[in-house]
Amino acid sequence: MSPACRAFRARFFPEASDAQWSDWRWQIRHRIRTFEEVRRMVQLTTEEEKALELGGKMLPLAVTPHYMALVSPTDPDQAIRRSMIPTVYELRRCPGEADDPLGEEHQSPIPGLVHRYPDRVLLLATDFCSAYCRYCTRSRVVGHGALTPSTRRLEMVFDYIRRNPAVRDVLVSGGDPLTLSDERLEYILANLRAIPHVEVIRLGTKIPAVLPQRITPQLVRMLRKYHPLWMSLHFTHPDECCLETARACALLADAGIPLGSQTVLLKGMNDSAEVMRRLVHSLMRMRVKPYYLYQCDPISGSEHFRTAVSKGVDVIRGLRGHTSGYAVPTYVIDAPGGGGKIPVSPDYVAGRDAEGNLRLTNYEGGSFQYPDYVTG
Ligand SMILES: *Cc1c(COP(=O)(O)O)cnc(C)c1O
Repeated sequence: MSPACRAFRARFFPEASDAQWSDWRWQIRHRIRTFEEVRRMVQLTTEEEKALELGGKMLPLAVTPHYMALVSPTDPDQAIRRSMIPTVYELRRCPGEADDPLGEEHQSPIPGLVHRYPDRVLLLATDFCSAYCRYCTRSRVVGHGALTPSTRRLEMVFDYIRRNPAVRDVLVSGGDPLTLSDERLEYILANLRAIPHVEVIRLGTKIPAVLPQRITPQLVRMLRKYHPLWMSLHFTHPDECCLETARACALLADAGIPLGSQTVLLKGMNDSAEVMRRLVHSLMRMRVKPYYLYQCDPISGSEHFRTAVSKGVDVIRGLRGHTSGYAVPTYVIDAPGGGGKIPVSPDYVAGRDAEGNLRLTNYEGGSFQYPDYVTG
């Protein structure tokens, strides 16, 4: 067990055995959900205390004991703390913000199925998460109990996909699909795998970071029956890459599941090349390929998390060429209104000279030319 988790358990869950602490259902049952519990574990600021007192009106609060062990009790600016403990800033509404900025509701032929791109769909399997990120892009649905993994809804989804042979890739997300039981998850995977034109199944989850105990040998034995199965793991900060999380990723990678990460660019949390380099290096060591870096969606009450797009471009400039190409994610803006993910990258093409040479800038700022004369 990582030292932070061991110390936290001794202090706040002294009665919990190793077996209980390592049991994901025990972790879910003992999630930290109330003001009183948080106050016992964290020295709250006025902004946090006020938000917790108001409660109700916001995204639900829930933190697994494992993840709470990684929260700094003393530093309100720590990334993991800011991602889990609400502040009053969440109640502020700013221009350009919306509850459904990506227009997912308009692209949902079935409740909880988003069909935006021609060849792939997004299935929101459940609205339940083991821990709620304060900057959640689906705060309009998560934790409200409206999207359940009911057989009736899921059968409608399977039917829709069966009738749409262009769908070759199904992304199962939520909420967090890995909070479902092995049996329920297998029911979803088996039904998707039975559709001949579904080539690839993807799972989107934050479980390896917030509830690594969920990744059991039994779970991965089940998952590997449904290859080609890919996984997108949500990571925010290098502090998340503890012993337990590394072990969870190793189990998944050993089962032959290609792992990618999705990270939201968050103000003061990971919006520097230095923090991002540490994160992507930690991810590569865990065999997770940094896939996307997301500009934070303009979700209601998220202004305190958002950075200028130029900052994201600077972060990418600080990675490309300076570290392994595999470690560099694609920086994207999920276009408000449902336009999909649009890449934004530093410009390395400086123009063309009179002879037709392409003028290029390398990662160190040096100028180079490429004889781009070939026509047709
Ligand atoms: C992100 C997303 C996908 C998957 O996009 P990729 O670029 O293929 O990872 C599919 N559907 C929706 C609605 C999405 O938001």
